[in-house]
Amino acid sequence: MTDNDAESILVVTPHPDDSESSSGGTIARWCAEGKKVTLVVCTDGSKGTGDRSIKPADLAKTREVETLNAAKVYGLAGVEFLRMPDQALEDNDEFREKIVRQIRKHKPRIVLTVEPDRPYLRHRDHSMAGRVTLDAVFPYARDHLAYPEHLDEGLEPHKVEEVWLFRAEDPDTFVDVTDHFETRQNALHSHVSQVGERSEERDQRSRDRLGETGEKIGVALAESFKRIKVFR
Ligand SMILES: [Zn+2]
Repeated sequence: MTDNDAESILVVTPHPDDSESSSGGTIARWCAEGKKVTLVVCTDGSKGTGDRSIKPADLAKTREVETLNAAKVYGLAGVEFLRMPDQALEDNDEFREKIVRQIRKHKPRIVLTVEPDRPYLRHRDHSMAGRVTLDAVFPYARDHLAYPEHLDEGLEPHKVEEVWLFRAEDPDTFVDVTDHFETRQNALHSHVSQVGERSEERDQRSRDRLGETGEKIGVALAESFKRIKVFR
């Protein structure tokens, strides 16, 4: 297999750190296996602080640097920043077109994104990002008459084979991430503004949480997902 035909995966995260906290071990494993993983960050994360002295624009810049640091830790193929305002994602044409564009550009076999339909309490950006990404996969990215202007730019319709949802209500797919804990923690703690520096105490908290999931499949550490087969 050459670099060009490595399996391609697109991770669509509402906020810069959601992918690390939910799926960092799996992303680390995919990268270690030579898969071509590209991260799409929907919002600028500019409302993610309790510190009143930080300006939103400065926070957005900090969070891009943190995301690029995480990307280096994993060895991601690339990061796409959509730079939509934090807490303002909507299920609309503007956002959908941006996700369809990323799918057509990167041609992933798998798209990993957030579960949109958690009952009761949920972050609105997560609902919107998950819903719009699922809609973008099917039917929009598939159909050449959806955003036909993409054709003029050489962006062809694309069929994604599977969507994986992180933070899923009823997970059915478990990934053993035992050998990727170090990378996962280093990627997660690249987001210093959100989770602080790495420490033994924080590592233990992660081990406890991943360990609970691991028990379900008889491994030390695991992450869980809902897997949806779309096209084959
Ligand atoms: Zn989030």
